[in-house]
Parts: sequence; C-alpha cells; structure tokens
Amino acid sequence: MFSYDKGIKLNSSSLWLDAGSRVEACVVSHAHLDHAKKHSLMIATDKTIRILDKRIGKTRSIGLDFGEPYDFDGLNVTLLPAGHILGSAQILVQANGSRLLYSGDFNVQQSATAEAIEIPESDILIMESTFGQPAYSFPDRQQVSEMLCNFVAQAFRVGATPVVAGYALGKSQEAMKILGDAGYKLSVHGSVAVLARIYEEFGIRFGDWEKYKRKETDGKVLIIPRIAIRSRMVKRLLHKRIVFLSGWAVNSSTKYRYGVDEAIPLSDHADFDGLLEYVRKVNPKKIYTTHGFREFPLHLQRLGFDAEPLQKSKQLSLF
Ligand SMILES: [Zn+2]
Repeated sequence: MFSYDKGIKLNSSSLWLDAGSRVEACVVSHAHLDHAKKHSLMIATDKTIRILDKRIGKTRSIGLDFGEPYDFDGLNVTLLPAGHILGSAQILVQANGSRLLYSGDFNVQQSATAEAIEIPESDILIMESTFGQPAYSFPDRQQVSEMLCNFVAQAFRVGATPVVAGYALGKSQEAMKILGDAGYKLSVHGSVAVLARIYEEFGIRFGDWEKYKRKETDGKVLIIPRIAIRSRMVKRLLHKRIVFLSGWAVNSSTKYRYGVDEAIPLSDHADFDGLLEYVRKVNPKKIYTTHGFREFPLHLQRLGFDAEPLQKSKQLSLF
C-alpha cells in the first residue's frame, strides 16, 4: 500500500518519496525545493545531496549511484536518471515481485547539463504531468539553443545587454552551458553562481563566466534567477533585452506576464508528446498523475491506459 499526502508514503515501511514536510526517512528525487525538505534521513543521488547541503543545510544522508539497489524495510529502492536537472532521479521501488515507479520531475529530451533519462518498465507509475496538454509541444533542444543564441546575438547587435532569466537551479546552468559553449562571456547572479560551482565539481564546464560585478557587465550576458527580473541589478542597466526561459513560453501571454522582451520554451520537463512517450516505455498497468492538468489522465484513458489523478490521502494497494 501507499498513500499520498504532499508526498508518497510507502505504508509497508517508514519510507516516503519526496515528502512535502520533514519526515524520518525519505527518498528525494531531486534538489528543487518543492520536492526536497530537510528530513532526518535522506536517500538521494550524491549530486542531489551535495546541492541540498548547500541550499538547506546538511542532514543524515545515504548517497546512491544511478542503478545501485538499496534495501530499506523490505523494499528495494533504485534511482534512475530523470533528465530534469543535474542528479535528478526517478525512483523505482520493488517488493513482492511488484514494481512502483515514481517519475519525479523528468525530461525525455537530452539536456546539456542533466544525465540522459533511462526509462524502466513498471507495474504502477506515479508521474508528474506538468505540460499534459497537446498545446505544449516544444521544439527540439538544438532549435531552442539556437533561439537563445540568436536572442543574445541580436541584443548585442543593437547595443543592449542580454539578460537571461530562469529558475536558479537547473535552467540557469543549462543557459550558462549553451551560451558558454557558444563562446559568450557570462556575468552570473550570485544565487546562480553558487549552484554553478557545484555543477563544476561534477565536471560540467561553462566556458568564460564570473560572478556578477556591478561595473563589469559590458560585452557579457547577464544570467539571473527569475525572481531578479525586477531587481535593481537589472533596472540599473540602461539598455537591455530580457528573455525568460520556460516551457510556459508556448503561451503567447507569458512574456507579458513576466514583463520580459522574449520568452523561449527551454524546458526541463517533458512536453505533451514526451509525457506520452514516457508512458509507452514504462508500459504500466496503472497510472497516477500529479502536478498537471486534469485532462491528462483522460488523454491516457482514451489511449487505453488505466489512469487517474493521484488524490490526497487515498490508500492505494501495491505491495
Ligand atoms: Zn524540479
């Protein structure tokens, strides 16, 4: 059995998956703070643990390699790459011959900074479905990278400072990698820089970059977290062009909502077709969806899958 209440509780043990508040023992899929809290014991990839040490402070932890099985209270837990951000994992739990796969946040497209996803088969699938509507169809990564590089080149052509905004963890490092590899010099907001240093510890190289210094931004691309779009740091630039990176860029209203010049659909989540590709590969007997549109499980039902939204506190039989 498992139950859902801001996280997945595996009822045959004391173990949680991505619990939304502090618990005794929890497997954490990745280091975004809507999935990770400071638990008494955290089981995660070494990369996720390292990032969370920095973000929320050290806690007792067990670091697993991808594919390394770990036994806890009679459950067998394995982490598999999710393709979302550095160190992000899907969580596969096996017991009594049954398999439960918890997707965490995932992306089927290969990113520049996250490990390529490996999709296992499973009897039961609990999956995020953030972009679970057909309108959310993203261009391939190569095209999106070109859109970003073109935006930056165009800004420099008109004498403006290009400002690239996205989530501080994951999206911003992805932008740094794309633009650094393209040869641009980068000036990076402190909250992004501290996480980029951790990416570097794990072998990711971003080219020519430095932490933001107020009077040293000429000829550089500014990389900022989304929350800094209206900061003094950005306001004091006289001539600038701001781009916001998000899958929500597919909505034409996104750039107005965030008050930016452009929005580009660089996403660390799967788009609608990516979600369906994922489901077909997992080939589950039962699907529970989280984080998404209510229509998505209906789409899956029309395709012949047994799917429903995961509901709070519902007791679900598994093991
Ligand atoms: Zn995430």
